[in-house]
This record gives sequence, C-alpha cells and structure tokens, in this order.
Amino acid sequence: MLTSLTDHNRFFVVRPPNGRYGRRFAHGECVAPVNTGEFPECPMCNVPIGMRSWLPPRTVRLSSMQQKKVADFIWGAGFSFLVSERVAKACVTKNIKGMHVDVEKVQVLPPSPGNAKTEALSGKSLPNYYSVSIHWPGASLDKSQTQVTKTGVTCSYCQSGHLLKIDKIAIDLESWDGSHIFYLRELPGFIIASQEFKLNADEFSWSGLHFIPVEVVIYNEMTGIAIQKID
Ligand SMILES: [Zn+2]
Repeated sequence: MLTSLTDHNRFFVVRPPNGRYGRRFAHGECVAPVNTGEFPECPMCNVPIGMRSWLPPRTVRLSSMQQKKVADFIWGAGFSFLVSERVAKACVTKNIKGMHVDVEKVQVLPPSPGNAKTEALSGKSLPNYYSVSIHWPGASLDKSQTQVTKTGVTCSYCQSGHLLKIDKIAIDLESWDGSHIFYLRELPGFIIASQEFKLNADEFSWSGLHFIPVEVVIYNEMTGIAIQKID
C-alpha cells in the first residue's frame, strides 16, 4: 500500500513519457561508427546484466530538433538516456548518486541525414548532452512481498532469466545502498529513482521523465509496463 511508505523511502520506476518512441519528445538513435566496450556482468555468474558500455566519439541522431521537443532526458536506441548539461551540473551540485555522467559531450544531429549545412548548424541552439551509466545493483527486491515470474533462472544473485511478468515490486530497504538512481539486482532492465531524485527532477523541472511508484508497476512481456489499478 502506498500509504505504508514514508516520503523518504519511496521509489519510482523511471520511464520515458509516452514511451521510448513517443511523439511528444524527440528520441535519439546512435550514429555509426558506434564503439562499444564490455558488458556489465554479474559478479557471481558473469552473465551480462546490461548493455555494452558506449565509448566515444558518441553521436546521436534525433527524431526532431524542435526545442520544445528536445527534453532534458533524451531516450533512445543503443543507450538508456542522455542528459542535458543542466541535469549533469545539478547532479554534481546536489550530489546525486548512482548515475555516472560521461565527460565527453554527445554530438547531436538533426533527423534528416546528408544535409551538411543543417548538420553543421545542428545542436547550436540546444544544450550540450551527455551519456550516462546507471549503477547496478542499488538495491534488491524484498522477496517476501515481490511477485515476479521468470523462467530459466540459474543465478540466485542476479536472477537472470526470461522475465514473463511482474505483479508486484517491493524493494528491500535494508539492501538499498543510498543511490538516488539505480537498477535493482534482480531486475536490471528497470531504472529506479529515489524520492530525492524525483524531488530534484521536480525542483529543476527536468523534462523527459515519467515517474511511476514501484508499488503500482506491473509488467507483462506481451504488453510491457503498466500501472496497477487500485480499487
Ligand atoms: Zn548472476
């Protein structure tokens, strides 16, 4: 129940508003050559628990360059999200833990390829953007309350396997390392934010983020993430 949690220890699943490829905000796509490094691995079973690291030079083509559509958080294919310079700076001044911001800025290109003049001017009116990597694991699931269905699980630590559905996510507060944004040990596909992260997002009016309280998140592999209806 939402009411059993205090403001201090609420957590949220962070999502792109209207889906990763929604029309409200521009999304991005990596432009070749894409240089990648190693997968992050489970220390117990060595299974990859996330995407390969993305190495510079990093270039992203946006689906739109309209300023109102280019949010502080740009979601896309080949990376989780990019953050605008003001987000990167605020995360330093507010000591946000759990998100490593890469030093080199990402080159941002407009939607239509091949127009050298447009590409030369691209991004001039936009802030700088940076790629990030999100910390894993920031916390574990509370086994007594969580209802997650997976098949083919071979590792008791990362629980890697085929995720079929989630009926309830409950975070074990004892296992939380204090990160403000992170992946759960057993659900590395879901970005989790703490209450403090959300307060900063609200304070600075960061655009391009949608927060769903973890308690009401449900998931089905056929339909994706949804919000549980509460009677
Ligand atoms: Zn493992």
